[in-house]
Amino acid sequence: MMKETYQLIQDNKEELSALDQEVGDGDHGTNMNRGFQAVVEELPNWEGETFATTLQKIGMTLISKVGGASGPLLGTGFMRLSASFKDEVNWGNGLESASEGIAKRGKAEVGEATLLDVWSAVGESVREHGLDWDRVADVSLDAMERTKALEAKRGRGALLGERSVGHLDPGAVSSYYLFQALARVMKGADD
Ligand code: ADP
Ligand code: MG
Repeated sequence: MMKETYQLIQDNKEELSALDQEVGDGDHGTNMNRGFQAVVEELPNWEGETFATTLQKIGMTLISKVGGASGPLLGTGFMRLSASFKDEVNWGNGLESASEGIAKRGKAEVGEATLLDVWSAVGESVREHGLDWDRVADVSLDAMERTKALEAKRGRGALLGERSVGHLDPGAVSSYYLFQALARVMKGADD
């Protein structure tokens, strides 16, 4: 899943930075690419670790390598998944805890046009409908697209106020890629 995410981020690095140019400082593609490249490079060192520990290491790597506002937020998401999966791998609970962690860290709420909108929508869908990976892919796309009509209330986009309306949130787009990769890989594992 990390490799698939990195591939999608790499392929869309310029697009992510261009979106961040519209509502921020234009570095989101570079930030994400740096972070996921580091994760993919580290993966062989984590072989033999439990799923929960691997998620923790992914989170720590994203925090230290992505940088910007998005690194600590995404990192928190993965650290929360890790903590939640220590006892039992329940994606609904894990994603709920991850969304809570991101909201707390970013002092953000759903509907403020951030990556939280995507994480929270996916978590809600899994809790309501179970592990339907096609639905996860659809829901993350929909939540990402909805950030376009929303006014950004957190991060650099908030500096634009109403002028942020009409622009996709770059962090929502990269988290959409992350959940596309997850859905694709998990679906492949089910088949
Ligand atoms: P920076 O804004 O520091 O340049 P990035 O460009 O890498 O960092 O990431 C920007 C993204 O981070 C935004 O598009 C948004 O999704 C997310 N973000 C920024 N601040 C917050 C926040 N307080 N809460 C939730 N998400 C945030
Ligand atoms: Mg930026």
